[in-house]
Amino acid sequence: MFAVAGLLLGVAFQGGMFLFLIPFAGVAAALGYMNLPRVPGGKTASLPVVGSAVKATGISPAVTPELKNSFDDSASEYNEPGSTLRVNQVWARADADVKKAFSDMLEGLKRVVPNVHSLVLFSPLNSMKEWGMRAYACTNPDVRIASDVKITENTGLISQLFRMDVSRLLEGDLSGGKQLLYYIDNPMVKSVVAVPMLDRGKNRVGALVMDSLYPNAFNQQTAQALTYIASTLYTLYFKSFVSAKNYIEQQQFSVLYHYQHQFFKNMTVKDVFRQIFEYVKGNIPFDRMMILALDRQNDNNLHQERVGHVVCCDGIDADQFVNKKFTLSDKGLAILALYHNRPVERTFNQSAFNAYIPRIDNQEKKNMEFRQLFVMPVPTETNAEQAELAICLESRRNDRYSEHEMNLLKAFAGVAGFAYARACQAEQDKDLATRDGLTGLINHRTLHENLRTEKIRADRQRYNIGVLMMDIDHFKSVNDTYGHPIGDVVIKGIASAISGEIRKEIDVVARYGGEEFVVGLVDTTADGMIETAERIRHAVMKLEFDVHQQEPLRVTVSIGAFLVTPEFHDMKKAVNYADQALYKAKEGGRNQVIQYTELPMEPAPVDDGIPVLSSSMKA
Ligand code: GH3
Ligand code: MG
Ligand code: MG
Repeated sequence: MFAVAGLLLGVAFQGGMFLFLIPFAGVAAALGYMNLPRVPGGKTASLPVVGSAVKATGISPAVTPELKNSFDDSASEYNEPGSTLRVNQVWARADADVKKAFSDMLEGLKRVVPNVHSLVLFSPLNSMKEWGMRAYACTNPDVRIASDVKITENTGLISQLFRMDVSRLLEGDLSGGKQLLYYIDNPMVKSVVAVPMLDRGKNRVGALVMDSLYPNAFNQQTAQALTYIASTLYTLYFKSFVSAKNYIEQQQFSVLYHYQHQFFKNMTVKDVFRQIFEYVKGNIPFDRMMILALDRQNDNNLHQERVGHVVCCDGIDADQFVNKKFTLSDKGLAILALYHNRPVERTFNQSAFNAYIPRIDNQEKKNMEFRQLFVMPVPTETNAEQAELAICLESRRNDRYSEHEMNLLKAFAGVAGFAYARACQAEQDKDLATRDGLTGLINHRTLHENLRTEKIRADRQRYNIGVLMMDIDHFKSVNDTYGHPIGDVVIKGIASAISGEIRKEIDVVARYGGEEFVVGLVDTTADGMIETAERIRHAVMKLEFDVHQQEPLRVTVSIGAFLVTPEFHDMKKAVNYADQALYKAKEGGRNQVIQYTELPMEPAPVDDGIPVLSSSMKA
């Protein structure tokens, strides 16, 4: 019998798959022990098996609630990660396993100890010095028990088991269940036997208690059997939670692996952001989250302070952060993580005296609901001084982000940073081929490509494209008078003035030649096109360039315009017509807008410096 029990235990401890065997093995072991003929020097077979099997796992954490708490998710959060739901299922199953084993054990015990009344298991609550009821089984279903009972070092009978010199309790003449604390009513308990539950390091991590309404119901043998059962329970308890924990971690890492794998594909910067958001939303609970990114460094302003913006956010009061801009000198916690390339973790308590600590800056809404914040920086190089991205998570729980969550996110951030660096590099390489280095605008070749694709879309949806060609007036003299570097500053200034007057994501703007620019206005009318051209012309007139003289330098542009209707197909010709109109604008005295028409073109009359188009000029 005993050997069979040992065998069963051995099998059971090979893995979580056989956990259900443990209670049977446990009871079998106990039964075996109690029926064992007392042969002098007789050896027990089961315990060494238990010992070596557990040692083989190589871990010996105490069975504490923290093991489970780090995954627990009872409070509902803003997002409901699918992974959290799965985690909860795993825990529920492990919990049910332990409960089932426990009642099976009582069934088995009843056969050997006919007068048993209740069996109770205690395990640590918040510390090793405070035990709470973990499982309970009673032969009388009407008995009411206090399942929230706490046992500390000086409360009740069982608390004696906290003392290292007490290895078991055996009482056969009690006057009620009062001292046991776990009964609400006071049944006439006469006998109690209790043993500590020990972990591998022989630390007391709980107690197993059995009571009876009969006097002297238990003896030393019962106590010894209970010791074995406690050891089995510990193993079951420990194994089932460790295997649940391992299972969950394995699942979490396989999700992580999936995302990491994605990151090795060719991604755009936008893809990387989307991927980070998807992972966090699907796997890490939060009440608010943000992804912050430093704007990519332009080689021209290496000395300027770095700025960035929130690329995506979600959750409570997240709207205020949409596209929010920041600089690295802002004093928020999220910025801190970016600035020092260090994770930032803070818990906030409820006290009204606690001042709100900004996440980005002082302008944000001071929401005091949040209890924990965790910001994971995403650096693009190891040991980088600053991180390029940061993932900021906030929760209304103060224990949401555990070491485990932080480690997951750290592993994720490592690969995300790598993918981000690659995506940035790819976009920069592409920019080199398609963009002009001085102004950042697209170049001549890309303009024609873009105009062609815009034209295809415009034809499908039957709208016009306005083409503007512009050239800086008397630019040679700017160069001659102030030098080429100042000329470059003027070109850049005009480029950004033009960009400021058009719709960024819709219209097209290119540096066409040295000091010539072309704009493609998508879905416009003749009037709309001229209006925009005039706006640009005025914006340029307003520019002032400091040339270290009394008067700032001012420049003007001349603009030729041509409206591409759905009937007109040749975009190269369109640019050419706009150029012809530009020529007319130069001829007509510069600083003016001329629209190309089939009619012979005349410059528009100039009225207080601003040329007005005569009606005959309009298409
Ligand atoms: P207009 O009003 O007729 O346009 O007179 P303009 O002097 O501007 O004549 P044009 O448009 O022919 O002048 C082009 C000049 O622009 C020639 C060249 O020195 C200058 N230029 C072209 N590219 C650059 C550049 O990248 N930087 C600087 N500083 N100057 C440039
Ligand atoms: Mg020119
Ligand atoms: Mg010029």
